Amino acid sequence: MICRHVRSLLSDELDGELNEDASEQLRKHLGACEPCADAFRALRRTVRFIQAKGPVDVPADSAERSAERFLAALMSADTDEAELGRVIAEEAQRLTLKGG
Ligand SMILES: [Zn+2]
Repeated sequence: MICRHVRSLLSDELDGELNEDASEQLRKHLGACEPCADAFRALRRTVRFIQAKGPVDVPADSAERSAERFLAALMSADTDEAELGRVIAEEAQRLTLKGG
């Protein structure tokens, strides 16, 4: 499995939507590839953060754009965790501002 492919499957893995085979291959890659493992941890943290905040009252298209931007950052094999953290913080703040 190449990094780009792994990145595209991370959110499916979190949602439990991967079949056993794909999930096993993905976890094998995460065990050997630190950048992808970082991306997976960052994504999991983000999902927990959003869930902990409860439903955020923002226009659907705004939330969707944030999710797309975040996923685009995740998909890039060049993105390190610090940069992901910045994207997450920016989008979280933007959602809070719009929703508050
Ligand atoms: Zn990788």
